[in-house]
Amino acid sequence: MATLGPRALLLWLVLLLVSTATHAREPVIELEGLTQQSLVEQVEFRPAAPDVPLEEVRTDKGFRPLHRADINQGISGQAYWLRTRLVNTHNKPVSWILVHKTSYLDHIELYTRDATASKFERAHLSDRVPFHERPIDYRTLAFPGQTGGDSYTDIYLKVYYDKPDSVSLQFTLYSPEAFTQAVQYENLWFGAYYGALAVMLFLALIIGTLLRRPSVFIYAALLLATGWKWTLLNGFGYQYLWPDSIYGHNEGFHIAFLLFALCATQFSKSFLNTRVHFPLGHRLLQVIQFVALAGIAVRLMGAYEPALHIAFITLAVIAFLLPVIGAHAWYSGLRYARWYFLAWLLYCVSLLLTLASAYLSIVPNGMYALILLQVGSLLEAVFLTVALTERLLNLETERRKALALANQDPLTGLGNRRLLQSEYEGFIESGSAHRKPMYLIMIDLDYFKQINDQYGHDAGDQVLREVARLLRAHCRDTDVCIRYGGEEFALLVRTDGVQSARAIAERIREEFARTPTLYEGHSIAHTLSCGVTPVQRHGQALSVNEMMKHADQALYEGKAAGRNCTVIYRDSLSNPSLQTIQ
Ligand code: GH3
Ligand code: MG
Ligand code: MG
Repeated sequence: MATLGPRALLLWLVLLLVSTATHAREPVIELEGLTQQSLVEQVEFRPAAPDVPLEEVRTDKGFRPLHRADINQGISGQAYWLRTRLVNTHNKPVSWILVHKTSYLDHIELYTRDATASKFERAHLSDRVPFHERPIDYRTLAFPGQTGGDSYTDIYLKVYYDKPDSVSLQFTLYSPEAFTQAVQYENLWFGAYYGALAVMLFLALIIGTLLRRPSVFIYAALLLATGWKWTLLNGFGYQYLWPDSIYGHNEGFHIAFLLFALCATQFSKSFLNTRVHFPLGHRLLQVIQFVALAGIAVRLMGAYEPALHIAFITLAVIAFLLPVIGAHAWYSGLRYARWYFLAWLLYCVSLLLTLASAYLSIVPNGMYALILLQVGSLLEAVFLTVALTERLLNLETERRKALALANQDPLTGLGNRRLLQSEYEGFIESGSAHRKPMYLIMIDLDYFKQINDQYGHDAGDQVLREVARLLRAHCRDTDVCIRYGGEEFALLVRTDGVQSARAIAERIREEFARTPTLYEGHSIAHTLSCGVTPVQRHGQALSVNEMMKHADQALYEGKAAGRNCTVIYRDSLSNPSLQTIQ
């Protein structure tokens, strides 16, 4: 085997170095086996003033390799040039699609030149022309091209905005098949996202209508603002909803961001009742809302840059403020605030990750962070739904408690007159749902005033509690026990007939007479009288007043007949058919 001399070795090394260096200066992308290729590393880029033409840019030496960290250029009014060479080593032509990753980029000028051509061909893609003028029906700017067999295509791309905006240099080169596949995959995820959002919106509207709760409607508005924001951001709005509205696509962003901030802060105010629970936070939220409204007004009046900065700052401020307010509310004892806190924490983290990946080039880079933010926003909406549901359940529990208290007699824990009324109305409404008829038993303690006088008011109270215990012991779940007032009680019982109702009253009367109340060493003997009446006459339910009048009449007769007895009401109480049991 021939050995290399030192000179030949040196020459070889020099050649190797030169070829590596040349390679570094001329980035190329192999089209052989292309599926999907992110345009970093194999691309060079340089910023330039917007009006510098291709000829000048080409001869200039300002190009440098595009690394991941260079993809996001922040908010800029400059033009950015990218260049690369697509090399086809195959003997057949290869088709490709060049796709930019943000929907809101204003302009791409694309200069291509095949190996055999002497001049560059220019194509101009823009979102400032109606959507249908795009060469590819896709939500972001995309350009189809072809490179001949055993040939190459030189590409220069000029990326710029009409007005300063956040510049992303993220391009992907696809084979047509890979592009179709990527779009299908993407649509699956976006479909799931919008589906979930629509379901939550639908639920919020139904619940809001049923419960007439403003916070639920504000939440629905927040979901709508979120949907609009993302529909604008990912380009579906322009593709499907307003394809001819150049204004709607280009000028709506900051208004959408600010509306989202307005809805988020308004929801927080009403959901956490910040005016009461967190006055300082409440004032801060009001300031943010004022700034957001001012931003929208400024934008509508035509100013661009102030609105842009107001929008970004507002979004960043609420990303920090809302989790803090949520944590504070949770810490102060509002349990349902924990889901709210988690929701905004998630939003805050995903926003931070987006900012970090834009400025610090942490992987994932570029627009993937935006997708992360969108997933974060969906989870946030889910958590807010949970928070809202928990809050509504809380309100319902509180309402039930308040209702129970309003229907309760505090001394005995029995129901009160109001409960009798509502239970009786429920009985009338349920019609013949129950086959068993209902009876009202009115109970009045005999000579109760004397008990009070002799043993004191507290002893009287103790007797009343004893009556309540006795009534509970003799009632079934379907019966209603009421302290009607003072030392009068009422029982609504379902039973087979008036004699059966009378038997219930009698059992109570007898046991009460048999069992004196023990109070502070005294044994207090007592009796009571009962009036019993059916609550229906000729198959018709009586009114509450009529039924009370009947029971009172029977009771009055019982008192007149000497007390400690049960009397059944009959249509004509003055006649001898009145039954008194003693
Ligand atoms: P009668 O046999 O005719 O029913 O005589 P009575 O003394 O039971 O009836 P009256 O209506 O004259 O007196 C009822 C008493 O009940 C008068 C009132 O001070 C007493 N009372 C009303 N509410 C309460 C209460 O909550 N606690 C106590 N300890 N007494 C009460
Ligand atoms: Mg009385
Ligand atoms: Mg009495």
